[in-house]
Amino acid sequence: MATTASGLVSDIHRASLHDGPGVRTTVFLHGCPLRCSWCHNAEYRSCRPVLRLHERDCLACGACVSACQRGRHAISAAGHVFDRAGCTSCGDCVAACPSGALSLVGQAMTADEVLATVLRDRGLYASSGGGMTLSGGEPLAQPAFALALLAGARAAGVHTCVESSGHAPQTALLAAAAATDLWLFDVKAVDDALHRRLTGVGSSLIHANLDALLARGAAVELRCPLVPGLNDGAAELDALAAFVRARPALRRVWLMPYHRMGVAKAAEADERVIDQPSASADDHRRWLDRLAASGVPASIAA
Ligand code: SF4
Ligand code: SF4
Repeated sequence: MATTASGLVSDIHRASLHDGPGVRTTVFLHGCPLRCSWCHNAEYRSCRPVLRLHERDCLACGACVSACQRGRHAISAAGHVFDRAGCTSCGDCVAACPSGALSLVGQAMTADEVLATVLRDRGLYASSGGGMTLSGGEPLAQPAFALALLAGARAAGVHTCVESSGHAPQTALLAAAAATDLWLFDVKAVDDALHRRLTGVGSSLIHANLDALLARGAAVELRCPLVPGLNDGAAELDALAAFVRARPALRRVWLMPYHRMGVAKAAEADERVIDQPSASADDHRRWLDRLAASGVPASIAA
């Protein structure tokens, strides 16, 4: 199905095993309206392309200094200095860099270009029960692009899955739902004030969107990022259990433990995230036991 829709893509991961059933191609759409303090993909959350500097790969050759007409790069005795203010993400320095130390996260692509990559692994999807997953960022922050990708995959007989924060206009969510086989829907905190403190937005729209999906019979699995000391106390877990019990149509509950793997990536994009020890096996057990005691079986996501 040819389409003229286009958008910004942060990355495409083929042969993914953790973003829905079977073997999948995960398409990370660029941009997110939330600012979760623990974000694992903070380099994806700007709504425009982001220049990333991998300092360990820099040869200090100065090619980027010459290439940038805005004077954003400098090489000094202290090393490579990049001043992001005023960078237009034009990519001239990336093209000039001989070592790959510079990259732009967020590439403009058409839906047809993305789908051409997705459809390469049709055989794997068929044999494993897999398909395409839209992730991000927040996929529904680019609603027309997301819908074109979902509709294109659906038309090609590919199973479709959306990982979403749920923070999107309900019209966009329900339009996407018409071409989505499975939702992996985030609940980061039940309480509105806590959700706002942790992510920058409240939870009421997210809850209304979840209930709208369930009301129309959508297949939804919950994904709950848990960060020790932030949203994993007994009161928060009990609130989560009550929230789940009130929605028996939910298919499954996944707990997503905080880890530090996003910290270095965030720093390369000048994005601020917390840096604390990763959740431990004891944390996992405590979460699972507390939820189970409230009648909510859950699983730890890989
Ligand atoms: S992306 Fe463009 S504006 Fe930004 S530092 Fe590179 S050359 Fe300069
Ligand atoms: S062009 Fe690349 S390798 Fe050379 S100084 Fe700039 S970032 Fe470093």
